[in-house]
Amino acid sequence: MRYSLRTKLTISYIVVILICVAIISIAANTVFENQFRQYVIDQQEKQAAETVTMIEQRYQAVDTWDVFYLENIGMNALENGMILKVTDAENHLVWDAMVHNDGLCHQMLTNMQENMQGYFSEWEGGYEEKQYAIYDRSAQVGTVSVGYYGPFYYTDRDLYFINTINNLLVWAGIVSLVAALIFGIVMSRQLSKPISRVIESAQRIAKGLFGEKVHEKSKTTEIRQLVDTVNDLGETLQRQQEASRQASLDIAHELRTPLTTMRGNLEAVMDGVMSLDEERVAVLYDEVLRLNRLVDDLGQLSRFERENLILNKVSFDVSDLTRRIVHNMQNDADVQGKRIVFSGKAETIYADIDKISQVLLNLISNALKFTHPGDLIEIAIQGDLQSTKILVKDNGIGIAEEDLPHIFERFYRADKSRNRRTGGVGVGLTIVESIVTAHNGTITVNSIENEGAEFSISLPKEKRNE
Ligand code: ADP
Repeated sequence: MRYSLRTKLTISYIVVILICVAIISIAANTVFENQFRQYVIDQQEKQAAETVTMIEQRYQAVDTWDVFYLENIGMNALENGMILKVTDAENHLVWDAMVHNDGLCHQMLTNMQENMQGYFSEWEGGYEEKQYAIYDRSAQVGTVSVGYYGPFYYTDRDLYFINTINNLLVWAGIVSLVAALIFGIVMSRQLSKPISRVIESAQRIAKGLFGEKVHEKSKTTEIRQLVDTVNDLGETLQRQQEASRQASLDIAHELRTPLTTMRGNLEAVMDGVMSLDEERVAVLYDEVLRLNRLVDDLGQLSRFERENLILNKVSFDVSDLTRRIVHNMQNDADVQGKRIVFSGKAETIYADIDKISQVLLNLISNALKFTHPGDLIEIAIQGDLQSTKILVKDNGIGIAEEDLPHIFERFYRADKSRNRRTGGVGVGLTIVESIVTAHNGTITVNSIENEGAEFSISLPKEKRNE
């Protein structure tokens, strides 16, 4: 069964309160009840002892039984649940509450019995007596017998106290439950409302409305993070969508230019306006090369996206590989009037040699593309115990600050019109980044516009799995 966040939270609040109320009730009914019972027993014993002391002191004061005084004390004791009977040394009755007011005594005992049986469902008790000797100058002058409903009894006042506590607990429970319910509803509303709004926005994003933004100012950290993440997701998807749209336009344009040139040339040849001489063939060949490059780039990207993570790792000297690639590109650089320099000691890495070559090729050809004649391109390999660094630095046109975060995105080109001339479609760095990531490495770029760009790759030293 699936429940909403609101129902779950409210239920958990109520369950917690119910558990608390149950624990408090059990604790009250055992600990409190025991303590109170002990208190009542102590109190009753104390009262009996005090009553007897008072009788003894009176006897010692007047040297005989003061029946009027005994009557006073006896009636008072009766109100507190004690039936007094005083006998002298010869066991003659001096005063007896039963004799004095038999009806009241029986009424008191019945009342106690009702109290106890009403409170304890399985109560078993009865009339009990305790004897206390009365002394005057070390001689026993009589005995006071204190009769009561035993083994202990609750007076109306005691029961009132117990019931008040119990009622208080019940009310505390009811108030807590209502409070939990209200809190549960308010809290879950506060949580579920923004989440529902985020869900609605995410659903609109899922339908393709990437510009959709969640405007939710929650005070809950996780919800804020969720809102930011969904907004970021929307923005990324929007950028991707724009990049793909732009890419389709760019690709169409890139294809159209060589195709138009070739078509124009071929039509002119077919119409006999131009002859198919060596120069014409060279122009056509250049356009074919251009098309080839474009199709290669696109093919490479789609292949990469399919088999991105399949790496064919071997151990090789990356400095040696770089030196060879630099050597191969030297000619291009010379033609363009640019200088390429390499520095680095032998550095063995365990990686996919073809894919690392691809990385170097893409970075160096970018450096060649985005520099002016006379500019310098520096390539370096550095290594320490933890990692190997590949640095490609140029002092060319650089990358604008606003473009920096996006240059690794597919089809992203910093300056569309300028790049058209350079012939790229904005996938070179996407490929570089995915190769580096597949090798658990990182790539960073530092650049200042018009001052140059520096790409730095860090590959962790990996043990050969052999
Ligand atoms: P492209 O096929 O356009 O070269 P890349 O993915 O290789 O695509 O590069 C993306 C963009 O990053 C380029 O269009 C360019 O604007 C910028 N860029 C890459 N390398 C450099 C560099 N060395 N100097 C200046 N800009 C660069």
